[in-house]
Amino acid sequence: MTEQWDVVVVGGGNAGFSAAQSARQQGAWVLLLEKAPRQWAGGNSYFTAGAMRTSHGGLTDLTSLVEPLPADRAGRVDLAPYTDADFLADLTRVTQGRTDPELARILVGESRETMTWLRSLGLRFELMFHRQAYEVDGRYRFWGGLAVGVVGGGKGMIDQHLAAADRSGIEVRFDSPVTGLATAADGSVGGVMLADGQRIEADGVVLTSGGFEANPQMRAGYLGAGWDLALVRGTPYNTGEGIRMALAAGAQPYGHWSGCHAVAWDSQARATGDRELTNQLTRGGYPFGIVVNAEGRRFVDEGADFRNYTYAKYGAEILKQPAGVAYQLFDATSAPLLRPEEYASAGITRVESDTVEGLAKELGMDEGRLAETVERFNAAVVPGRFDPTVKDGCRTEGITPPKSNWAQPLTTPPYVAFPVTCGITFTFGGLRIDADARVLDLSGRPVPGLYAAGELVGGLFWFNYPGGSGLTAGSVLGRRAGRSAAADTH
Ligand SMILES: Cc1cc2nc3c(=O)[nH]c(=O)nc-3n(C[C@H](O)[C@H](O)[C@H](O)COP(=O)(O)OP(=O)(O)OC[C@H]3O[C@@H](n4cnc5c(N)ncnc54)[C@H](O)[C@@H]3O)c2cc1C
Repeated sequence: MTEQWDVVVVGGGNAGFSAAQSARQQGAWVLLLEKAPRQWAGGNSYFTAGAMRTSHGGLTDLTSLVEPLPADRAGRVDLAPYTDADFLADLTRVTQGRTDPELARILVGESRETMTWLRSLGLRFELMFHRQAYEVDGRYRFWGGLAVGVVGGGKGMIDQHLAAADRSGIEVRFDSPVTGLATAADGSVGGVMLADGQRIEADGVVLTSGGFEANPQMRAGYLGAGWDLALVRGTPYNTGEGIRMALAAGAQPYGHWSGCHAVAWDSQARATGDRELTNQLTRGGYPFGIVVNAEGRRFVDEGADFRNYTYAKYGAEILKQPAGVAYQLFDATSAPLLRPEEYASAGITRVESDTVEGLAKELGMDEGRLAETVERFNAAVVPGRFDPTVKDGCRTEGITPPKSNWAQPLTTPPYVAFPVTCGITFTFGGLRIDADARVLDLSGRPVPGLYAAGELVGGLFWFNYPGGSGLTAGSVLGRRAGRSAAADTH
């Protein structure tokens, strides 16, 4: 017997749970089909830090959203408002002006209310002191437009989503890879096909099955030569079928198909994500040190901007280097600024020496070259007042590439190096949707019955990405997709 549902959601990450909840709130009966087994629940969303970028009115506004502040910190927090205009300006700047204006307006304009909505479903939020604030002059100063995270990070988020789905009466089915869309002769979508040949009928189908980052063939094909060699930071299950089945049904490809989010990642990490360490294999402290390639040469401006605005594009720069590796270097002055979760917990690849030459030797690098790079860097540092919470203008002069902020000489042993490679997070290219999250065809008309949200939507992110926007985008557009799909039910 063929099963019949009001709405079927394909993919159980944050976007999928958001879409399912939204459809359910409209009264629809919702089935969420997840390819992975239960022990791999949550897709990439599980691997996240749970950081969610939202516009907000400052500390007073966020107090109503987050858990009570720790008693020893209340009254010592500096957290300026982050307005819609700020969020939009950051998104526009890092995407080099290419972000889809309508999707961007929706993401930004609905970010804050969507956080309140998620909270009403049972998600719990906190201020991310551990990632997004430094203590300066006795005050906790938040920086980089990002302040709120889910309690428990990505792991907590998926636990909370699963519990909320259960409360709402959403059926979640694991081990259920969707292999195709059931389309009628008029092109409308009326359900999905499963790997075992079963057909499930639905009035509305919402695709939230992620990008193609875990598919080496598609990576090499769309991102370019060498991308098949990148390590995958998250789930091995995001292999692009959702995108492909939609394209086969006539959907329009959209966005930056040769672009992706990729970061500095522990060079010894496994080929796809580690459920225990999740995002701890990221190495995001480079603004406080220098980064060299295997030849001992610097190749990026480590302090071009706050980490939140450079980390997602620097993975690609590492992949371009000889052997696709690089080394982040710090000394005893800068190392204390590194987050212990990323730089001092088990499973982290690290080399230490009392001299720069010794470090080079340990790394199998030309000792003279690395020493020369560090000496030239140190000599180029212009004295200034170091402050990790602002773009402090502590910079270099006369070297290429420059370091534009947070430049301090590396002179205090011990020196430490962290070998990194390119870890891909998610792909930017995907499907074109309209403001109601309806998937559009090649003529720009909605494919009846088909909706999409999350990573597999194209058009929002190009070249780069403002940290914490992926989860918010998944929830904002997932909420719209679920609402639209439910409106289709008859
Ligand atoms: C290590 C790491 C850290 C990150 N940190 C952050 C952060 O702190 N903040 C932030 O905003 N973003 C972060 N991101 C990015 C973030 O993960 C994504 O933007 C977001 O999770 C995408 O959500 P999604 O629901 O679209 O996809 P996912 O969460 O990946 O869910 C897609 C689901 O679809 C399933 N699926 C795939 N194919 C099929 C199929 N054929 N049939 C059925 N199901 C299928 C997959 O198994 C998966 O469960 C991070 C990513 C990684 C990897």
